[in-house]
Amino acid sequence: MAEKNVEQNGTTTISLIKGDGIGPEITDSVLRILEASGANLKFVEVEAGEKVYLSGKTSGIADSAWDVMRKYPILLKGPITTPRGTGYKSLNVTIRKTLGLYANLRPARTYDPFVKTKHPGTDLVIVRENEEDTYAGIEHRQTREVTQCLKLITKPGTEKIVRYAFEFARSNGRKKITCMVKDNIMKITDGLFASVFKQISEEYPEISTESMIIDIGAAHLANNPQRFDVILAPNLYGDILSDIAAEVTGSVGMCGSSNIGDSIAMFEAVHGSAPDIAGKDIANPTALIKAAVLMLVHVGMPEKANLVRNAVLKALEDGYRTADIFTGEANTQKVGTKAFTDAIIKRLGEKPKQLEVRELTRPKTVSLVKPKHLEVKKLVGVDVFIDEYENRNPETLGKKMDGIQNASLHLKMITNRGVKVYPQGQPETFLTDHFRCRFVVNEGKSVQPKDIVDLLSSFIGLGFDVIKTENLYTFDDKPGYSLGQGE
Ligand code: NAD
Repeated sequence: MAEKNVEQNGTTTISLIKGDGIGPEITDSVLRILEASGANLKFVEVEAGEKVYLSGKTSGIADSAWDVMRKYPILLKGPITTPRGTGYKSLNVTIRKTLGLYANLRPARTYDPFVKTKHPGTDLVIVRENEEDTYAGIEHRQTREVTQCLKLITKPGTEKIVRYAFEFARSNGRKKITCMVKDNIMKITDGLFASVFKQISEEYPEISTESMIIDIGAAHLANNPQRFDVILAPNLYGDILSDIAAEVTGSVGMCGSSNIGDSIAMFEAVHGSAPDIAGKDIANPTALIKAAVLMLVHVGMPEKANLVRNAVLKALEDGYRTADIFTGEANTQKVGTKAFTDAIIKRLGEKPKQLEVRELTRPKTVSLVKPKHLEVKKLVGVDVFIDEYENRNPETLGKKMDGIQNASLHLKMITNRGVKVYPQGQPETFLTDHFRCRFVVNEGKSVQPKDIVDLLSSFIGLGFDVIKTENLYTFDDKPGYSLGQGE
């Protein structure tokens, strides 16, 4: 991590986005607590959020902001409102992806018996991949009926997040990592994530591992979160899991998160800008305070992190509750954002008596290991996707394509939404206007790019509306494509 934001006198400069809705209130709370803690920090405000969106900039961030964040690569960010309607891109996703913040760390713990929860004793951390998966945002409408979103899972991206999860577990005394994927269905993408997890786990023998299919994993998380220690997941599942974790541990107002990149890191609350309670002095600032604690650890001020963390726990023990966690129990009082903040500041230097303190350590920076062996990649066929709105008869389509003369390729099957419909389709299969026609290499031949060009010329000559192609490769003779359902 670059230390260019640290001045000679030890002051660390932080880029700050106060955010929208409750953002400014909870950010002010955090700034007051940090100042009172004596942390040697300075803040430079970055122009981003609703105001910037509404001024006509659809990215929600001023061009000059990127230079500020590059100069001061630690960012504390309040929640931002994404205006409704098409045309506005989520600033959170833009920041994470533009700055290469590949790891999203979301600790979730309970504060029982002080904050009501159905799951006392929960203390888990979700490590979510932050840049890939369906969040690559590559979507297309291909026919009148069919849309698609590309799910990208890469080897280096997966290796980075898996290594980060293990390094985090190792440096924080965590004993077990549960990897959640859906590799029984997405054997290539989620399969890659699962296999990289398995492979890298061998380098960390002291950490036990388990793999779970995401659906049953999410069910266990909702019902029995105490059984988990660290959960590792690709982007979309991780996003959903962390909201479940936040909810089951008490309140979305209590969970902070960090977004870690090679040279830049961003710290934020898990929740949004809560416009329904904005400006009323009732928001719970704990999530952003916890994000600030993660930030203090990250910038090398663990003692200040402890000071703030302990004061928050002590304020909870002493009965201070914001509205979202107030249940009217004896010896508790409902307070607003400002009074809750005052209670925390007053307790800086005190320690909780009952609540367990879980200190965090910044894991070592991960680096990628160069693959020892470069697999041999061979072109063995092509999937040609066509739009057939009027003629949806697989037999007619198949017979027409069987007649195509090509030096290297022949039709193997046609699928509709992944299910084989030719040859020998089933009459019950529902047909959309989107067909995939798989052509594979003829016995004893090899496929050249020109064979695919010739094949496409034949398709066009026969009047087919080709919408895209996907080449079929083997890697060290292993297929790099899935079979059709029923193939
Ligand atoms: P939200 O998290 O803002 O609110 C959900 C519910 O939780 C609301 O009832 C809210 O009052 C409550 N809540 C949230 N934070 C709280 C806190 N600190 N204290 C007490 N109660 C709290 O989710 P939403 O309503 O779906 O989204 C509102 C806006 O926030 C949208 O524009 C959305 O795009 C944006 N958003 C931003 C981020 C981010 O900046 N990281 C994340 C999620 C949503």
